[in-house]
This record gives sequence, C-alpha cells and structure tokens, in this order.
Amino acid sequence: MPEQKLAFQAEVAKLLHIVAHSLYSRKEVFLRELIANAADACDRARYESLTKPEILADDSDFAVTLRVDEAAGTLTVADNGIGMTRQELIDNLGTIAKSGTAKFVEQLSGDAAKDVSLIGQFGVGFYSAFIVADTVDVISRRAGSGEVWRWTSDGQGEFTVAESARPGRGTSVILHLKPDQKEFLEPGTLRQVVKAHADHIGIPVRLAGTETETLNAASALWTRARKDVTDEQYAEFYRGISHGFDAPWSTLHVRGEGRLEYTALLFVPGTRPLDLFHPDRKSSVRLYVRRVFVTDTVTGLVPGYLRFLRGVVDTEDVSLNVSREMLQQEPVLAKIGTALGRKVLTELAKKAEKEPEEYAKFWDNFGAVLKEGIYEDAERRDEIQKLARFRSTANDGWNSLAEYVGRMKPRQDAIYYASGDDLARLRTSPQLEGFRARGVEVLLMTDAVDEFWIPAAGTFDGKKLVSVTRGTADLSKVAASEPPKDTAEAPPPADVAVLVALLKQSLGDHVKVVRVSDRLVDSPVCLVADESDPDRHLARLLQAHGQLKAPVVGVLEINPRHALIRSLVALAKQPGNPDRLNDAAWLLLDQARILDGEAPIDPAAFARRLASVMTASAKTA
Ligand code: ADP
Ligand code: MG
Repeated sequence: MPEQKLAFQAEVAKLLHIVAHSLYSRKEVFLRELIANAADACDRARYESLTKPEILADDSDFAVTLRVDEAAGTLTVADNGIGMTRQELIDNLGTIAKSGTAKFVEQLSGDAAKDVSLIGQFGVGFYSAFIVADTVDVISRRAGSGEVWRWTSDGQGEFTVAESARPGRGTSVILHLKPDQKEFLEPGTLRQVVKAHADHIGIPVRLAGTETETLNAASALWTRARKDVTDEQYAEFYRGISHGFDAPWSTLHVRGEGRLEYTALLFVPGTRPLDLFHPDRKSSVRLYVRRVFVTDTVTGLVPGYLRFLRGVVDTEDVSLNVSREMLQQEPVLAKIGTALGRKVLTELAKKAEKEPEEYAKFWDNFGAVLKEGIYEDAERRDEIQKLARFRSTANDGWNSLAEYVGRMKPRQDAIYYASGDDLARLRTSPQLEGFRARGVEVLLMTDAVDEFWIPAAGTFDGKKLVSVTRGTADLSKVAASEPPKDTAEAPPPADVAVLVALLKQSLGDHVKVVRVSDRLVDSPVCLVADESDPDRHLARLLQAHGQLKAPVVGVLEINPRHALIRSLVALAKQPGNPDRLNDAAWLLLDQARILDGEAPIDPAAFARRLASVMTASAKTA
C-alpha cells in the first residue's frame, strides 16, 4: 500500500495547535505523557498475554526505552507493548474519542495562560509531543501481527501513514526536536525529567547508550509503605494519571485488612474535570490485579457519586484468568467499592470538621456530584446529608443542614428551601419575601440534583424539607411570633375575591389557580407550583430535557396589601373596566414569569400591553 495522506479531525487540529503553543512553559510534560502511553501499552500487552501467551514471543521483559540520536537531532521513546495496527494509528492519533471533546475545544481561547489550566483539566496526551518536536514519526507493530506501519506528521492538520519496518512488537515515537529543544538530547536532562515526572511508573524506563541505564524506581508507588512516599511523589503520581498540572485536594492511601485484600491510592482532584457531568463519563480509577493493570473503565469500583476520584485499586482477590466483562460482575469488586466509599466519606467528614475552608473548595468542585449519593445510597444518606453544604439567605457562605436547624425559629418545624438555576435571581425572588420579613432562613439550591435528592430524602434530622415555591406557604405558626413589619391594610376579603375571580377569568388555563398569598411582602405577585405538581425548577428542567409533554401551569399568588393590587381591587369593583383589568391580569402573570427567569407567554402582546399602560399613565401625569 502506498503512503496515504489523511487529515486530523477538526478538533484535533485546533487542540494540537494550542497544546504546542500554550504549554511551552511546561514543555517537559511531553515526556511524562509519552512514557505513560508506552507504559500503558506494556500493561495492555501483559494483560493480553494472559490469554494469548504467544504474543510475547521471546520478549517478556517489558520496558520503555529512550534513545538519542545526536546527529539526527531525534529523541525516541520506544516500548515493547501492545502496538497499533494501521487503523489504530489513524484512529488513536488522528481523532479524540474522549467525551466532551468538541465542547472542550470550543472553550479554548488561544490565550495561552487561560488555556493551560483548561488543558490541564482535559488532560494532555500524545499531542504534547508537538511542544518540542516539529515532526513526529510513530512506528508501530501490533503484538501478534507481522505488519509495521509508520505514522508521520508535522502537527499542521495532516498526517501520513505508510508501511515501515521495525523489529519486534510495540511502538517507537521518534521526535525530531525543534532547533531550540536540543536539551532533550542530553542524558542529564532526561534523567532529571524522568525522575521528576515518571519515577512512579511501574515499568522500567531505560536510557539506551553504551551502557543501558534505568532512570526510574520502576516499582508501583502504591505498593510502597506510606512513610516511604513523599507528598511530592504522591502529587506527581496524581498528575501522571490525571495528565494535568494541579495538586490533589486530598490523598488516601489505604490497605484493605481482613477479608478483603487490596491496596488503594485514591485522590480527590484539586480542580473539576471538564467532563464530570458528561453522561458517559466513567470513573477514573484504574484496576490492577496483583500489580497487573486490567482496566480503567470498570464501573462500580467506587460509587457513582464519588466518580471524581482518581487513582488505582490493586487487589489480590480476583482471578486474572477471567475476561474484563466477567470482572465487572465480580462481587469482590463491589465489596471493595463499598469499603472504599466508606473510607472516603470518613475522610471528607474529618476535613469538613477540621478545615472548613479547605472543605469549601472541595464542595465547590464536587458537591453537586456527592449529593447524588443522598438518593443513590440510602445506607449512607444521613452521612452524605451531613457532608452537604448549601447557600442560604442567612449569609454568603456555605452552610450545613445542622447549622440551619440550629438557627431555626422557635415555632419553625420545617427546613425551607428555594430551588432555581441562578443563585443571584433566587436571592431576590419574590417567593422569599414573607420568609425574610419573618426572619426565617431559606436554603438556596441551584444544582439540578437537588430536585432529586430532596424528594428522596424528604427530611433531615426529623425536619421536613419544604419548597417555598410549591404549595401554600404555611407561615402562620412562625408568623405568630414575628409578624411582618408591613403595615398597609389589605382591602376587605370579599372585594379581593372579586379581583381574584376576574384575574382567573382572564388568564383561563394559563394559571391553575389565583389566590391570596402569605409569602409576598414587597411584590404584587408571584408564581408557585401547586402542591400536586412538580416544583417550578424541576418542571423547567424536565421540559428542557423533553421529559414533560405539556408545560406545568402555575398558581398565581397576589399580595392584597400591595398598592397595585389594592388599586386593581378598587377598579374591579367599578363596572366598565374589563379591558384594563384583562391587560392587568396578563401583565401580572408575565411579570411573575419574568421574575422566575421565564419569558412572557406572548412577548408581542406583553410589549403591546405595557406600552398601552405606560401611555395611559403618561397622559394622566
Ligand atoms: P490517552 O492516553 O489519554 O488515551 P493519548 O493522546 O495519550 O490519550 O493517546 C491516545 C491513544 O493512542 C491512546 O489511548 C492509545 O490507544 C494510543 N497510543 C498512544 N501511544 C501509544 C503507544 N506507545 N502504544 C500503543 N498505543 C498508544
Ligand atoms: Mg496518554
């Protein structure tokens, strides 16, 4: 087959350009990434050889070898791992399979400083080779195959694939170093970079020369005793598996005692990975069995609500002779997952108590994920509820449910909350006015997951969780102790009832009910959900995901003490104002919708009515 020219996937071309230009200050990461890929390839070959020993031929000494050619100006990173077929070279090095790639690339600005941290969260990989090389050759032979293929690119949008030659299985990545990157030809530099960034790799990294020299410790870091590992070594290991630049927020290095035999080295990341909420994101915990890497996509190794964890689990308790698919079903893994989940939650609880400010950083990044545990893991519900933190009308910080309960008013028996997607809008929403006037604190929930755990849990510490935008606000008991400071007199109930009836008549099916409100103080109207309907925020979420056929119609509450409502009551008592009252009804409903972040029902009609009301008031002025 003659040499073939192919184009990179559009996102790859852009990513390549940005990686090559923005990561200059961290350029030595290319070696970490290429060594990691080479070691992964060895791990995969080792695993495959368990069922197909013939692929090893006579070479079972897995290693990553660095080779320097001064004259040619090349640095080669070679491995005797699994290798790639022609199609794998095209797919793996020309496209990115990772979920959320397109969205991630869209966010890249071309501004080096901003992009570095983004790329760090995404994970740099093979393309980091182009930071230091102007041309890269990848020559590979898939284990068990006779064919050898060469992939070549200058990283400018295209690559070529052609037949090639190479002894033995595996891959050689040949970097034609840029003129100003010749330092990577020096053994001293290579020694230092490997020691700093690849010491923890479980496969020997060798420098080929007249005498071959091993540059790393080549023992799996998690097998060492905790006292023999420095914080920096842990951090570097974390960066190695996350392909990023940040430090872990927390490190957990534990051994299973008793019935379960395993070692786990787990990290809570210091930054939030970009694909955390992507539906097909798998956990990032790598499974080893007796030091042999098996898979990094095993589900259930840690509970889903801890999917932000990174790290490794190495166990003695499962057989290596079963397929990956069978392994997924291993009950031992689920037990290890449960044990690890317990340890992680205990660790989080300690941090929450001893270092609340540090804990807040964790909560900012991963709180929305951890809350999934409240409905997914009934056994740990209480524990996770205690770990949860919330925004509140009482202050600008994070609050625990226990703190809220501690501040409850004497006759208050429920935990009140408001949910929406925008914190600032929630803070000013009219539905909160009555609570604020009575000094009753309201928790502000802005994560979609809140709509799911709240109904699942229902209570905390025996107190019901009650939405302030659903059902009737029963503030009467609390109100008895502290009535609102508002003094304006409401018109007689019979007169208000006339207006209520007229409003309902005008709005028809666009409101479920019109009624007098207990929760309004400063605003004339607000919308709430009927007790028998989903809460307003949940309805919006379900609608956005196409899971709701018809929109949920709200309850319109009016504030009879408000000047506007009082004059409308007066207007309703006189005959001959149907048009003005009809306009007012629709303007009130649209206003309530706007305050909830929704559009008026008919924007053109809204604008027309507003204009006519303003014209009338300009005439009287
Ligand atoms: P990642 O390692 O996170 O998947 P990379 O960009 O580093 O992303 O690599 C892309 C893919 O290319 C790898 O998943 C692997 O399939 C393949 N690959 C890269 N280097 C090698 C290698 N030395 N041997 C075999 N496959 C490799
Ligand atoms: Mg990689």
